Amino acid sequence: MFSKILIANRGEIALRIIRACQEMGIETVAVFSEADRDSAHVKAADEAFCIGPASPAQSYLNIPRIISAAEIGDVDAIHPGYGFLAENAHFAQVCGDCGITFIGPRPESMRLLGDKVAARELAIKNKVPVVPGSDGEIKDSNEAIKLANKIGYPIIIKAAAGGGGRGMRVVHNDMSLHSAFSSAKAEAEAAFKNGTVYMEKYIVEPRHVEVQIIADKAGNVLHLYERDCSVQRRHQKLIEESPCPILDEATREELCKNAIKIVKAANYENAATVEFLLDKNKKFYFIEVNTRVQVEHPVTELVTGHDIIKWQIRIASGETIKIKQKDIKHRGVAIECRVNAEDPSRGFSPCPGPINEFIAPGGFGVRVDTHVHQGSYISPHYDSMIAKLIVHQNTREEAIATMKRALREFKIGPIKTTIPAHLEILSHHMFVKNQVDTSFIEKHMS
Ligand code: ADP
Repeated sequence: MFSKILIANRGEIALRIIRACQEMGIETVAVFSEADRDSAHVKAADEAFCIGPASPAQSYLNIPRIISAAEIGDVDAIHPGYGFLAENAHFAQVCGDCGITFIGPRPESMRLLGDKVAARELAIKNKVPVVPGSDGEIKDSNEAIKLANKIGYPIIIKAAAGGGGRGMRVVHNDMSLHSAFSSAKAEAEAAFKNGTVYMEKYIVEPRHVEVQIIADKAGNVLHLYERDCSVQRRHQKLIEESPCPILDEATREELCKNAIKIVKAANYENAATVEFLLDKNKKFYFIEVNTRVQVEHPVTELVTGHDIIKWQIRIASGETIKIKQKDIKHRGVAIECRVNAEDPSRGFSPCPGPINEFIAPGGFGVRVDTHVHQGSYISPHYDSMIAKLIVHQNTREEAIATMKRALREFKIGPIKTTIPAHLEILSHHMFVKNQVDTSFIEKHMS
């Protein structure tokens, strides 16, 4: 087992990883930008190094500075969290070359699955159902028009290197395809330095269902069941829950089996999430694999009792998974609400600023993962997510009631947050009756 780990991240996930390390008797090294000098993860770690100014390019994305901190701190391993360098195969490679274990998959599998076009090809090769679409990259808009007419509108243009919903355009007719194609390509080029785009049929009103996987170096691959992440705004998740409330046992088993199949085909190790869309006929289609821990991992932790961060660390240190699939039980219902510094009444626009009031909820079945406290400052340089509120109960009805009670207890001011939007969603009759899909917020929220 490692004796010291550097956490190449900030915010709630850095704190989450430090806490797991403390429980495992592992020393921790934090890195921080000048904007995060007083941040909770800096105080919680055994050592901390400032790695540059607030701008991520000069700090949390700056590989030489992070590696220097790792060398000065004399760590055995680096945990990248999510976002920043978590899915950067070059960073994983550099860590390995410097004799530091990267807590995540091998760079080769990260490269393979990080390219959505290659991942799609791998899925097809292994008979995992994919959304009808292009065979690989689409080079120009004329080719796109030909294919769109073949598969039928609506279609979606997606970036091969995509993430965070960038480089994605839904298109309904030939006329708008030309401009959507070039703007998706330009956005992908700017965001990922890779303008490769591909096409999928746009599944109308699907649910987003994903499977949590853990895989060790010896090829043991287990699933930790699914999460339903259908409540999204602009194709970005806002509420996640487990189990997916509309899945029958046979479909669940099939879904998890297919998730394992693709991870095995990629010769993958560590934690992964295999994402699918579920259409109205409960037919599922693979969309991508995320090669890191997800924001919404606590939902799975609460229903399975397995600490995913600890599994990541154990697997990276060479431990094999000794439990069997049948040992992983799913109990009750967990729901997560992402509390973002955003103004829901202004299209969820970011709302950075000082936090003068911060009272977190508690009580039975309530977990709060956050780095924020009274006196924190929410910087415009970083992600707007400031806390995750996760609840666990025996039934979905009870989980919704606990979540609503906890949301009402949660006091954050004066900045605007997504809390009022969550309360509105959780009270909506369609959410209560499980009738949600990825278009729910756009269609039903005021
Ligand atoms: P990113 O990696 O940028 O988040 P994903 O491929 O994970 O992109 O897709 C994010 C979301 O976009 C999905 O959860 C879904 O809401 C929507 N989406 C993606 N592909 C399709 C599709 N073919 N049909 C309908 N919705 C889609």
